[in-house]
Amino acid sequence: MIRVYNTLTNKKEEFVPIVTGEVKMYVCGPTVYNFFHIGNGRTFIVFDTIRRYFEYRGYKVKFIQNFTDIDDKMIKKANEEGTTVKELGDKYINEYYKDADALNIERATVNPRATEYIQEIIAFVKGLIDKGYAYEVNGDVYFSTKKFQSYGKLSGQNLDDLQLGARINVDERKNDPMDFAIWKAQKPGEPAWKSPWGMGRPGWHIECSCMVKKILGETIDIHAGGSDLVFPHHENEIAQSEALNGEPFARYWLHSAFVNVNNQKMSKSLNNFFTAREILEKYDADIIRFLMLSAHYRQQVNFSEELLESAKASVERLYNAISNLEHLLEEVQKEEMSGEEEAYLKELVKHRDKYIEKMDDDFNTADAITAIFDLIKDINTNINIGSSKSVIKASLELIRELGAPLGMLQKSTKESIEEEIERLIEQRQEARKTKNWALSDKIRDDLKARGIVLEDTPQGVRWKKI
Ligand code: AMP
Ligand code: ZN
Repeated sequence: MIRVYNTLTNKKEEFVPIVTGEVKMYVCGPTVYNFFHIGNGRTFIVFDTIRRYFEYRGYKVKFIQNFTDIDDKMIKKANEEGTTVKELGDKYINEYYKDADALNIERATVNPRATEYIQEIIAFVKGLIDKGYAYEVNGDVYFSTKKFQSYGKLSGQNLDDLQLGARINVDERKNDPMDFAIWKAQKPGEPAWKSPWGMGRPGWHIECSCMVKKILGETIDIHAGGSDLVFPHHENEIAQSEALNGEPFARYWLHSAFVNVNNQKMSKSLNNFFTAREILEKYDADIIRFLMLSAHYRQQVNFSEELLESAKASVERLYNAISNLEHLLEEVQKEEMSGEEEAYLKELVKHRDKYIEKMDDDFNTADAITAIFDLIKDINTNINIGSSKSVIKASLELIRELGAPLGMLQKSTKESIEEEIERLIEQRQEARKTKNWALSDKIRDDLKARGIVLEDTPQGVRWKKI
């Protein structure tokens, strides 16, 4: 039984899907006006892991993560770059996939773009007006928060307090300071679509409400995003969707905590961010995912070079164990498991039970990683050159099995001979650049001793076997 912490009830609850064995899940994705930073990256990694874990536990998951490709930030950036909003979106969606793939984030079932749903959004807005939940003022359309009785239920705020706070920014066009725009009239130079209220574009909140409905339906299992989205974004999504559909919107609301820098939220506006792209130049997916998943997803992570380095060392320890097993597998002779080994294997899978117990408990990846370390310690002390191929294989498979939902530990540590030679040639070139002749000669001689000769040609170094 999987238990999840639900922001809506502030409690851990048993996860009961609408349809047995299926999970309908929607995660608010990036606004595509820039490369994403490692704070956004954590949110993507966390929900990718949760999705993988549901799949590991036998669920069929429909996983939707949108691209916000029309909003103020998109328009501003497109103007700065002298390009169109459409082209800007195309470009950064492309870049998103590059970085997400490099972070070993699985592709979503669908990545809808807001601008592909304009007609549906217009119908949604119209539906809200018809039901008396929204009103038009000079081409803008606002949602009437007062009309929606349970406004504030997700963030646990009451409308009176919220209104008091909002009075500071009174906007003449709105009936009430807490009302928010669901359709925005076109301003000069902005991209716009034809609507019953004139040329305009959708507000941010309505995009998600509409895409959820069109792709997953009126009620979904899980709605997720970073914790900065609880208010107002998710609160507003609930209000719009429940007002129109008359059905509960999402049964479980999951929110991941921030990545901070010096205890401040990493964000584009504070300019204290590192892009995933630049971190990926030095650290690979296993290391970055390890860092993000070594804390519980509802716990903040303070991002630093030291933490990355320590994650790197931990990942190396894990891969050392994998590498040992891969080598042993080549060296040992014995095929069949002994009775003693069979008994040992029964003990070993207790680490899997532990891992599942921790992951079932609101995806406690931190403790799940500890279970993997315990598994590896166990393997290191018990598996050796005297073991059978079968028990080594089973041990290796167990490590990979438990790594998979975390998106880690799937690489082989065995380089092909070609890869090794290329790497050594590159090392030798580096040595020559820094005039380290002793090292460059040693690499050439070592290779020669293995029957591989290097030829310096105008096109670079070639090698052949003699
Ligand atoms: P944005 O592109 O700013 O709309 O953000 C995309 C996703 O990343 C949203 O789910 C945000 O909640 C999340 N996010 C933004 N900043 C951070 C951060 N510093 N740490 C974790 N998640 C973040
Ligand atoms: Zn959203």
